[in-house]
Amino acid sequence: MLKLPKEILERIKCHGENEAPLEACGYLAGEGAEVKEYIIMTNTDKSAEHFSFDPKEQFAAVKTARAKGQTLIAVCHTHPASPARMSQEDIRLANDPSVKYVILSLLDAGIACFTVDKDKKLITEKVEVV
Ligand SMILES: [Zn+2]
Repeated sequence: MLKLPKEILERIKCHGENEAPLEACGYLAGEGAEVKEYIIMTNTDKSAEHFSFDPKEQFAAVKTARAKGQTLIAVCHTHPASPARMSQEDIRLANDPSVKYVILSLLDAGIACFTVDKDKKLITEKVEVV
């Protein structure tokens, strides 16, 4: 389960709209299942269908979260023109079973959260907008 404040959801949406038609990506940082921050990251793939993080920004994001007593709960990205479902590529690249993957669709404003276990099995998690 993921608790996502409404204003953070709005921030992700804004970022997504600014980056469209490319995918926008970032981290959701917080405590436990409670999201407190959206950390904007550069999509170094500059793609409309997939994304990659910049390792330097990843390192900085870990440090920023840690300094606030938070952890990086989820990897977040937008789907500018498709529903909020993990693509084959998303599943292939999801290598950390301890991280949640959040997708916001700009097509229908749907939001979804998943984890991917070590056997690449997809588990859907509930998102509670608070
Ligand atoms: Zn995706």
